[in-house]
Amino acid sequence: MRAALNALRDYQDVLVRIAELDRLLSFIPDEIVQMETDWKNIQARAEELKARQEKREKEIRESEIKLAELKDKETKFDGDLQEVTNNKEYHAVLKEIDTAKKNISVIEEDIAAARAEIQEIETGLVECTEQEGEAKSKYEAAMEQHKATMSENAQEKSEKEIIREKLAETVPPDLRRKFDRIAARRNGVGLALCVSAVCQSCHVRVRQNIVDRLRRYDRIITCESCKRILFFADTE
Ligand SMILES: [Zn+2]
Repeated sequence: MRAALNALRDYQDVLVRIAELDRLLSFIPDEIVQMETDWKNIQARAEELKARQEKREKEIRESEIKLAELKDKETKFDGDLQEVTNNKEYHAVLKEIDTAKKNISVIEEDIAAARAEIQEIETGLVECTEQEGEAKSKYEAAMEQHKATMSENAQEKSEKEIIREKLAETVPPDLRRKFDRIAARRNGVGLALCVSAVCQSCHVRVRQNIVDRLRRYDRIITCESCKRILFFADTE
């Protein structure tokens, strides 16, 4: 009976490890997901800056066309001024020239403001490019490390599956069926160690006469509380 229970314990250890490996293989750790998010956020910020830059550049091009038109008008009014024949006309042309000058100065200010903003954007873009490069290599290095670990896990899993098949044969069939039944309803843990008279799965105290029987390994005893097969651990 002792040998059967020892085999069952090894069998369960392998099952638990395989379940843990399955869990590890099923997801990407939060910190790596976060690194990818950080990297994508910087990319998005760079895109936003580029879009703003293009918008300002387009505005400058449009303003420059308007500015050229206004300057032409101003030149034309200057010419008109030479040809006026009376005082009324003279004042009317002067007023036109004044309006054109005001409009020119407004547009020139707009262009200067847009150029200043573009410079700020360019500084921001340089920072973004630097940060993006750092975030990308940080994420890629972590991902590469993660993939290496996952490939080790997958390798270990296939090794453990071979061991599982071999160990399954060393556990008496009726004991294994009993174990499988219990384990299926208890997270894959059908065997519990009894250490210092306490079931290590449900942490409920095991009665002394049961501990004494466990120590003799003469029959299968289950925990009165969690119903798992108890295994006397003499390492206490
Ligand atoms: Zn228990």
